[in-house]
Amino acid sequence: MKILLASSEVVPFAKTGGLADVAGALPRELEKLGHEVTVFMPAYQAALKAGLEVEKTATTLEIPIGSELENGRLLKSTLPDSNVDLYLVDHTEYFQRDALYGEQGSDYADNCERFTFFCRSVLESVRLLDLQPDLIHCNDWQTGLIPALLKCEYSENPLYQDIASLITIHNLAYQGLFDYEKLAVSGLDAKYFNWQEMEFHGRLNLLKTGIAFADSINTVSPTYAVEIQGAEQGCGLEGILQDRVDRLSGILNGIDTADWNPATDKLIPTNFDANFDVASGSPGKAKCKHELQVQNKLAVDPNVPLIGIVGRLAEQKGWSLILPILRQWLKSVDAQWVILGTGDPDYHHVLTTLHRLHPNKLGLTLGFSNELAHQIEAGADMFVMPSRYEPCGLNQMYSMAYGTVPVVRRTGGLADTVINATQENLENNTATGFSFEEFTSAGLEAALSKSLRMYNEDRKGWNQLVINGMTKDWSWTTSARKYEELYKKTVVSKSLK
Ligand code: ADP
Repeated sequence: MKILLASSEVVPFAKTGGLADVAGALPRELEKLGHEVTVFMPAYQAALKAGLEVEKTATTLEIPIGSELENGRLLKSTLPDSNVDLYLVDHTEYFQRDALYGEQGSDYADNCERFTFFCRSVLESVRLLDLQPDLIHCNDWQTGLIPALLKCEYSENPLYQDIASLITIHNLAYQGLFDYEKLAVSGLDAKYFNWQEMEFHGRLNLLKTGIAFADSINTVSPTYAVEIQGAEQGCGLEGILQDRVDRLSGILNGIDTADWNPATDKLIPTNFDANFDVASGSPGKAKCKHELQVQNKLAVDPNVPLIGIVGRLAEQKGWSLILPILRQWLKSVDAQWVILGTGDPDYHHVLTTLHRLHPNKLGLTLGFSNELAHQIEAGADMFVMPSRYEPCGLNQMYSMAYGTVPVVRRTGGLADTVINATQENLENNTATGFSFEEFTSAGLEAALSKSLRMYNEDRKGWNQLVINGMTKDWSWTTSARKYEELYKKTVVSKSLK
């Protein structure tokens, strides 16, 4: 098949979140499966400074934005370790900025113009480069206009008539909401500004637009696809998602095993794999734990349980559940903690205070460090992730790959990836971690206590749990096959219309 994938961020050119990882990894996997994939992203300053080869093309763009015509140009590169063409949509004024979407906590005021320009450029490029894609794979609100423009503006044109569209929702909380006046920027007729298509309580909603017009919709885990149909996690879009449920599905993200593999990882003290004696445990992992304790100035002890956390210090990640337990356990439970994160200043403050009180039981790094993230995944015994919601989540998969047992709330991608250590799952060697249902500190504490008990009292059983997680396949290959199926289904259903 010929696939065009449009994304507002792509690893290694520009990244603010998991979307970039998907857009960087999936096209390469699809190429391996024999598909021809072309990727489009904006030519941000960051993308041009990423140290990758980017060349100018002769293709120029003239795009209507409201009543004005804006000029741009296509730049070209290739996704590393592949033959996948990547086009960067260049418009100096829109994209040569310090950030992708905004600065100092405020979105850029012309984001509607910037991403309308991007969406229209992608569609014009189909004609200018004679791409003939079977399907355009859109991602998040920044590309939400593409399915609408395909259906409402380009549908009479034979070059576009048969192109199907899919929109992937990576996080429903970000919707691309703009004042009604911005409808004119999109160039779409005011008749589409209604509660079933582009309107959300009097405002323009670009994610809703994508959901309304795409031939298929998916999210990044099957459970999140179900959860977003309810009021609690639907972010106000549960109605349209229920209406389009026959077109909605979930596909788990994979992890990039070139970066995240304990057997080859260059950022960790020693490499290790799942080939170790279940009675004595992995010597390589024990060495990584030792180094992590030394580095964090914790008591060096191979038998004390070491709990790791890496992630944004945001409410979504369940810090309101973690903090009461951390406060209590630092005083009374024989366990160590290593925490890496950055975000909400209130959490920075609380964690700094706890670190000052308990420096030999809590290692704390407030900042972003890819290297330390790898070292925590390799050296910790447990990894805590009690998210309020989690579209997919990567850290729990990294943890299992690195023999670190995840303790998670059963939501979204966490529910789909971590198999709870019930008696039955332990007996048949399918268990990979500990999970709990209710979003309460008591729920987390029960799951965490259970994990500690098993670690302290049944090390052989624990080591088997570690092996169960390490031998699971989290590579992109499985996910890419599922996208392939979804593309095929979407193209066939479009051709039957
Ligand atoms: P989300 O995308 O919601 O932040 P995920 O678990 O899906 O959560 O992915 C987060 C990614 O960002 C992981 O690769 C994680 O290791 C990384 N990460 C988050 N915070 C930090 C940090 N402070 N330092 C290094 N890596 C981090």
